Amino acid sequence: MLIVANWKAYIADLKKAQALLTQSKRLARATNTTIILAPPGPFLGALAAKRGNLVAFAAQDVSSITGGAHTGEVTALTYRESGAAYAIVGHSERRTAGDTGEMVAEKVAHALANELTPVLCVGEAVRDEQGRYLVSVREQITSALMPLTGKERRQVIIAYEPRWAIGQHAEHAITPTDLGEMILYIRKVLAELLPGRSATGAQVLYGGAVEAENVRALAQVAQVDGFLVGHASTDPGTFTALVRAAA
Ligand code: PEP
Repeated sequence: MLIVANWKAYIADLKKAQALLTQSKRLARATNTTIILAPPGPFLGALAAKRGNLVAFAAQDVSSITGGAHTGEVTALTYRESGAAYAIVGHSERRTAGDTGEMVAEKVAHALANELTPVLCVGEAVRDEQGRYLVSVREQITSALMPLTGKERRQVIIAYEPRWAIGQHAEHAITPTDLGEMILYIRKVLAELLPGRSATGAQVLYGGAVEAENVRALAQVAQVDGFLVGHASTDPGTFTALVRAAA
């Protein structure tokens, strides 16, 4: 079970970040869970120095540029040097802020070129009766993976995060039945893109309104490898309940 904790901008205080790290290390030791923390970038160095190999770190985003005169941009190499091993790319909050499919593809390639494993977020804004949401998820996956080599495509972790569920509470999350269908669909799309036309080894996560109350039922869905968790990962007590329920 893989859990990516996306702290977004919820955690602005280093003491809180350190308390969450301490608790995450305990949880990783006590449960059979791989925990990846995605703190605000400036905290990475201080946290990574104390991780004790029990948890890993992710960038919440990377720049698509590789360096030079770009004030405010943070490259994948900088994140890796600061202790990240993963990078969340294409999060819906970044797409809403202007990231296009082309930019997301560049970021995925840039992350891989700098030895960061991309966690590629895909998901529809709304569900329509005609099934156009399936087309949009397919396009998001295809446009990000097509430019990559077969070997690179295999390394990308997919996080299915329907935009309508993000930031909501458990009662508004996807149902286990709908999640099961979506995971099968994503694995079918991946099989068309991966070498050997098989998505067996691919990691597919779910994110959006995952809380301690619903994670157990969602974790029982076949072929879900874990969760990308936002608000419920930002309080030690809440996160503990969630990880224990998932595990
Ligand atoms: C997210 O933003 O990636 C996310 C899953 O948020 P939340 O858990 O708050 O819905």
